[in-house]
Amino acid sequence: MKAVMMYKPKDLRVEDVPEPKPKDGEALVKVMGCGVCGSDIPRINRYGAYFAPIIPGHEFSGVIVETGREVRDFKNGDRVTVAPLIPCHKCEWCGRGLYSLCSSYDYFGSRRHGAMAEYVAVPEANLLKLSDNVDYIDAATTDPCANALHGLAQSKLQPGETFLAYGAGPIGLFALQVARVHGAARLITVDIGEKKIEVAKKYGVDIVIDASKEDPAEVIKKETGGRMADAVIDFTGAPPAQKKAINCAGKMARVVLLGISHSGLSLDEHEVDSIMRGQISVIGSWNSFTQPFPGNDWFESLKLFSEGKISSKHMISHKLALDDAPDIFRKIDAGGLFFNKVMFLPHGENFG
Ligand SMILES: [Zn+2]
Ligand SMILES: [Zn+2]
Repeated sequence: MKAVMMYKPKDLRVEDVPEPKPKDGEALVKVMGCGVCGSDIPRINRYGAYFAPIIPGHEFSGVIVETGREVRDFKNGDRVTVAPLIPCHKCEWCGRGLYSLCSSYDYFGSRRHGAMAEYVAVPEANLLKLSDNVDYIDAATTDPCANALHGLAQSKLQPGETFLAYGAGPIGLFALQVARVHGAARLITVDIGEKKIEVAKKYGVDIVIDASKEDPAEVIKKETGGRMADAVIDFTGAPPAQKKAINCAGKMARVVLLGISHSGLSLDEHEVDSIMRGQISVIGSWNSFTQPFPGNDWFESLKLFSEGKISSKHMISHKLALDDAPDIFRKIDAGGLFFNKVMFLPHGENFG
């Protein structure tokens, strides 16, 4: 089968490799969609993974074409999405059902071969069936959507509140859509550049701020009569944005750090003071895996897709073949390319 192999950072090769054989309790999934996660970009362009060569990719959907022995609830032809984390089921955190916090987990695309390939073998516990009306592309974005739901739960967003998504990438755009479903009175997002702004507007976000042109805190102050945002999630992981996100939070607000950061954050005395005097909570959110595995954020995401309340439609910037992988990661690394969710379609767009 065809697969994208990462030999080392910035060294991707599309190769012909043996098709995986499903072991007992596993099913072979024909990959119909595999999204590029924000975490894949530094993994592929800077840091590498846990071994090499490795097939990257952990946000995927497909159809079952073979089942190993002991697979009970799935059969050939079942359309599925896949939870990428495989918990150890031995540590304290697994025992408490907090699988995202597992101390020795396995993970598609970073600790075992992933889904930038034509086929991948998946343990039955990681499979989720799709309703007929959920397409493979929405299904391949279930992981970022579940992350958005998890972040929203950490933010304790209440109906009638103002929600700010700092960063309008895929997870931010899902959070905004779900915040609307949860009854947020006002949706605000901040990003940089016209194309990102355009996409956020397509999702009906009330206030879309281009931070390269306006100061988000000033705009939000004016729009909220000085009350600022009640629930804020930073999806960028970039220290300057994290600082601004904190500056946009009102009294008793919850600020959730969700975007992966690769550098430190320093706060000045005014920022620390506003956290203290405003009784602002700064909270972390990591992944989406809870009991019963893979967790309610996954079941809820699939339900929202099936009810037509959320969609990945406007956030997919590229639909590519596996052969395009080396080139797109080179272009991303070179900078200047507009992209949002990049989606590989290993078998093309004919999903029939
Ligand atoms: Zn991801
Ligand atoms: Zn564990």
